[in-house]
Amino acid sequence: MNSGFGVTWKDTAGAELPLDSWRFARVLRPILGFALAVHLAFVGVFYLLDIRVMLVINVLSVALYTGLLANMHRFRERWILTTGYVTVLMHVWLATHFTGWGGGFHLYALILIPLVAFLADFSFRQRCLLIALISVFYALVASTYMGMEPLVPLDPHVVGWLKSANFGATCIGLSVVSLFYAIAVNRADRIILQARRKLEQLASTDPLTGFLNRRSMEPLLRQLLDSGRPVAVLLADLDHFKVINDELGHDAGDQVLEAVGAALRSNLRASDYAARWGGEEFLMVFPNRDLAESRAIADRLRTAVAECWVGIDGRRVSVTIGIAMARRGESLESVIKRADNALLEGKRMGRNRAVLDNSMYREGCPA
Ligand code: GH3
Ligand code: MG
Ligand code: MG
Repeated sequence: MNSGFGVTWKDTAGAELPLDSWRFARVLRPILGFALAVHLAFVGVFYLLDIRVMLVINVLSVALYTGLLANMHRFRERWILTTGYVTVLMHVWLATHFTGWGGGFHLYALILIPLVAFLADFSFRQRCLLIALISVFYALVASTYMGMEPLVPLDPHVVGWLKSANFGATCIGLSVVSLFYAIAVNRADRIILQARRKLEQLASTDPLTGFLNRRSMEPLLRQLLDSGRPVAVLLADLDHFKVINDELGHDAGDQVLEAVGAALRSNLRASDYAARWGGEEFLMVFPNRDLAESRAIADRLRTAVAECWVGIDGRRVSVTIGIAMARRGESLESVIKRADNALLEGKRMGRNRAVLDNSMYREGCPA
């Protein structure tokens, strides 16, 4: 279903919402790019430090990340993810093993924790488990290497430099992940808001005519009645509509309803309210319009309905309208009842007319 707001909303069982497909897929490329840049830098660093094993590991990592970036579409997200996590953890362990805790390579493991937020196809439990595993790993590396001499004896200046570089790169990594998270949350908020607006719109309007439905019109009318402003209530019912349905079919009936809706709409002003009250019944509410004006509009509406549709056999459609002016403090039920009585009176009088509520004015306005 297209929501109409540019959002693809595939909400059938198991289908992805845009946010889910966005989450990891979007952050994957820049994060892999970041990892590639860091490993590339360490190829140079370990070459200069002459730590062969780390040099080889970083060259392999560069090759791996380049391969993943170039062929991302071929691999499953989970696979890329697992490879990324394992590679980072392995690198953290080996680099700490060779250069010691002081070199700060262990910090990279910390980036993996907030990244868990983007693992769309992981359950909450799986994410918690992953965080726990990373934490245990980090604690093990810390308890093993903290205070231990590095395997490769390094100049304290070099260790300090490595620590600063790793700290800086970790900060950049965490900032990138946070930024992506903020973007994802923002986007999710927008999608939810759009979907909510769309649902509200769907729940409050009639799809055929675009008018309000009965459920959403009722509270509006109650509010207007409570406000004490003059309110005219018009209940319109198509004449002999059943015949159109019976003779021309239900689809033709729907087309007539659509045409009638458009005809009514084009004769109402922005401050008026219109609802599809029942099958072929429309309720119109005019705030701040007096009786004479409302009656004149009702006649205009009748003319518009008569002109809005011509059947293949030349037949037209007509409408009977009951009008009631709301009394001060009157309830919705009461004013609707009076408009309905006027409508029934109009039907009795021969249809195709606007009739004022006869409890106030004993008159009809025949065509
Ligand atoms: P009257 O002049 O006394 O109002 O006669 P009527 O035939 O218009 O009145 P009735 O209440 O007997 O019939 C209303 C018809 O409206 C019956 C129903 O099939 C039709 N109807 C109600 N909702 C829809 C709809 O959404 N589409 C179509 N095509 N027909 C509908
Ligand atoms: Mg009818
Ligand atoms: Mg009816």
